[in-house]
Amino acid sequence: MEGVASDGCSSALVTFFMESFLKQSLSDLDQKGLRRHLRSVEGAQRPRITIDGRSVLNFCSNNYLGLADDPRLKEAAIKAIQETGVGSGASRLVCGNMTAHERLERKLADFKKTEAALCFTSGYMANVGVISSLFEKGDIIFWDRLDHASIIDGILLSGAEHRRYPHNDMEALEKFLSEAVTFKKKCIITDTVFSMDGDIAPLPAIVKLAQKYNSWVMVDEAHAFGVLGHSGRGAVEHFQLEGQVDIQMGTFSKAIGSLGAYVAGSKSLIEFLINRARSFIYTTAMPASVAATSLKAIEIMESEPVLREKLWFNMTYMLNEIKKSGFDTLQTQTPIIPILVKDPQKCVEFSKRLLEQGIFISAIRPPTVAPNTARLRLTVMATHTKEDLDHTLNCLRTIGQDLCLI
Ligand SMILES: *Cc1c(COP(=O)(O)O)cnc(C)c1O
Repeated sequence: MEGVASDGCSSALVTFFMESFLKQSLSDLDQKGLRRHLRSVEGAQRPRITIDGRSVLNFCSNNYLGLADDPRLKEAAIKAIQETGVGSGASRLVCGNMTAHERLERKLADFKKTEAALCFTSGYMANVGVISSLFEKGDIIFWDRLDHASIIDGILLSGAEHRRYPHNDMEALEKFLSEAVTFKKKCIITDTVFSMDGDIAPLPAIVKLAQKYNSWVMVDEAHAFGVLGHSGRGAVEHFQLEGQVDIQMGTFSKAIGSLGAYVAGSKSLIEFLINRARSFIYTTAMPASVAATSLKAIEIMESEPVLREKLWFNMTYMLNEIKKSGFDTLQTQTPIIPILVKDPQKCVEFSKRLLEQGIFISAIRPPTVAPNTARLRLTVMATHTKEDLDHTLNCLRTIGQDLCLI
């Protein structure tokens, strides 16, 4: 520990304390087998990617419709950059509100059949901003135990009371709702497609309970937008609940291959958020090129239902074959296919051996999922070929048998 001055307050000493804290924390993670590392991806997000220098089949991406490197989206981004530059210069409320943002929001409100819509720079920021601005001490929020981390962070930041109900358990939700009598506002918040299980929230039952107990409903359609519903509008369309969900949030970062998020709802909801959501107010607007890319992606999704058809064709084929092989795929109904392994070490081994065969499927372990539910999480894209899927199925079967899973 050379360089520490005798007054004990030198920056070297501060550095020493910080470094020892950091090293200890990281070695704790190492010991628990929970340390995470970044992998380096070259090139575009395609069904085949180059990762840490190796070309592999990609079953980890949320780029469900394969739009992330679509030439028309690239062209829209480049055109916007040529017209408006790269940075937006300021927050939306100062001078960063560009026509590209307004066009995207108008399109979105039309598409979602709501009065208005507002864009955020990411889904994380949308959830944190919406929830923390709408709710406060004296309110109560009911949330599914598998809801996304950004929902939980928004709830904690809001200061509202909250109750976590077991996954998709409507009896438990009703019990919580019936006990909550002294609160100013009540809201049920749920993902519509759950990101680690691929199952769908029972939205009709949730809406019914909300009406019975005078509660609001907010949905997070991150994995449903572009995937579910006749036109890809999400679970609200899938269940024909348009007009019955107060706050619809979703992202441009998954199925439609861009970045950012939306909130769709009434004019007054959007006006309120413009005035109160801190993650909207105190941050620089997304570049116009990103907004233009999302707009183009929605247009393509609308005019080419064949993309969604291909996604569902691939998903149905893959899920049926995986099930037929004897794997446990939980309750999935979407292109997110979990393959239950249970034991975390075995799960990592499975993923490692697939990677040796040139197939990238991530191993998901506790605490991301409940104890004893470690799993492979495979996501299907519209752009995977039949050969991609068949090769992967063969490897899943061979390694799965080796590991005594089937
Ligand atoms: C990915 C995701 C988010 C966050 O969206 P980003 O745009 O990646 O910040 C929020 N909610 C759910 C359910 C998600 O899956």
